[in-house]
Amino acid sequence: MRDAPPLSPRVVVLGGGTAGWMAACLFAARWPRARVTVVEAPEIGIVGVGEGSTPQLRALFARLGIAEDAWMPAADATYKTGIRFDGWSARAGYSSYFHPFASAIDLHTAGAFHACALARRTGRAVDAHPDRFFLNTRLAEAHRAPIAPEHFPFEVGYGYHFDAHKVGAVLRDHALAQGVVHVAARVDTVELGDGGDIAALILAGGERLTGDIFVDASGFRSVIAQGALGVRFVPFARNLFCDRAVTLPTPRKAGAPIDAHTTATALSSGWAWAIPLTSRTGNGYVYASDHLSADAAETELRRHLGLLDADVAARHLTMKVGRVEEAWHANCLAIGLAQGFIEPLEATALHLTQTTVERFIDAYEEGQGTPARRDTFNAEIARRFEGVRDYIVAHYRLNQRHDTDFWHANAANNHLSDDLKAIMTAWFTGRDVAAEVTRRDLAGFYSALSWEVLFAGYSTFPDDARLRPALAPTNTAAIDRLLDGCLLNFGDHAAALARR
Ligand SMILES: Cc1cc2nc3c(=O)[nH]c(=O)nc-3n(C[C@H](O)[C@H](O)[C@H](O)COP(=O)(O)OP(=O)(O)OC[C@H]3O[C@@H](n4cnc5c(N)ncnc54)[C@H](O)[C@@H]3O)c2cc1C
Repeated sequence: MRDAPPLSPRVVVLGGGTAGWMAACLFAARWPRARVTVVEAPEIGIVGVGEGSTPQLRALFARLGIAEDAWMPAADATYKTGIRFDGWSARAGYSSYFHPFASAIDLHTAGAFHACALARRTGRAVDAHPDRFFLNTRLAEAHRAPIAPEHFPFEVGYGYHFDAHKVGAVLRDHALAQGVVHVAARVDTVELGDGGDIAALILAGGERLTGDIFVDASGFRSVIAQGALGVRFVPFARNLFCDRAVTLPTPRKAGAPIDAHTTATALSSGWAWAIPLTSRTGNGYVYASDHLSADAAETELRRHLGLLDADVAARHLTMKVGRVEEAWHANCLAIGLAQGFIEPLEATALHLTQTTVERFIDAYEEGQGTPARRDTFNAEIARRFEGVRDYIVAHYRLNQRHDTDFWHANAANNHLSDDLKAIMTAWFTGRDVAAEVTRRDLAGFYSALSWEVLFAGYSTFPDDARLRPALAPTNTAAIDRLLDGCLLNFGDHAAALARR
């Protein structure tokens, strides 16, 4: 459908958070003749805590033609090569592992990792910790920026960390420059028309905003989708227990290296993130309110950060975890937190927003501006949410930490999807995880390699006492030589950011 003439619907976006402005930019880019309006109530404000991304955000900025030099310094952004999981396993040698974003050089080392993991899970005494095998892991350990010189022949995968308010402002400025109209007003009423479509949004001053497509980006309030249209919310509470967060920023230490990765540290009833920005470190504790009070969570986070006596204000948030049954309902597309949220362990929220908007534009074009492709689109987006959810559930189900009621409850949680059960069965029975991921068409959410890194990172292997000798030695020296040689091509992270 890309050669059809550009469509020109009137698009009204309710919400000026990251999701709303991201959507406005994408609509304006794909449909230059469309009239796009963003309405937001400044007095309500944005949630402002999304600070980590997947590599997909790179594609967004590339599509919008916004160079890293232009947006990264403006948003205090840093590079992200992956996520380090600390303290999730009590097994000796596995207290920490790294989930790297994929890079093309992995083709040369993933086979060795896969072979080691297969040998270990089928009872051989082979070191299968994933940290040895991947370039991005080494970049993170050495505080290098994942920016390769032109002569380096492999694409390196990376995402970003950023200040959510500032990245929103970058997207807003870009959208306005593309002709998007900004209305600062509160929406008081959603007016329904014939056939259940939205006819207009009525602003606090009485003004009516009419449109063809209404995008609900109003955050957890979900004013249009869950509010006016009553779209059912499918909670994930039986799969994922964390429903609260408390945040506490810390200043960046002058002269200290800047991490090029997120750290996710397991605590008593959830986990704490540390997200390095050029200006500060964003910290937060995601926890389950069934297991910990807000006061106790704040104290535990303060202790974790060494801030017990510091006079820094904490911010407490409630998370509504799950998804709307239909992201596209009537003439409304729900995105961002209004569409749903999977807790931030893999920082997937903006990724899901971007995918939802891009796939919606495809589906709308394929249907020639009709809802002909709506059901297919909704099924695809729902499946994507559940594919991402399952990978997060796997972290909680498969880690080797059992010291509190929270971790016991997660280890005993059998509300697992058929897809997740099938992948776990493949791993634990020594079968091919990649074949199962392919057979179930799950690679678009998390690759087989990501699954294997998770299983191996948590050491879900037979007991050491039962291991038999390895059949063949692993050529670890060759892997070290290759990856350490590659590392010579990459410069210091802080220095690379200072040059931006
Ligand atoms: C603890 C936590 C950690 C997170 N970490 C990450 C992460 O690392 N990576 C990631 O990708 N995502 C993360 N997220 C999610 C991320 O914060 C959101 O996906 C992102 O900020 C987009 O939010 P939003 O735009 O949907 O909603 P919001 O930022 O809440 O914006 C809602 C907008 O709607 C407007 N609005 C609401 N009601 C009305 C009304 N009646 N009239 C007019 N305007 C209205 C508000 O003014 C505001 O502009 C995290 C979320 C939480 C809770």
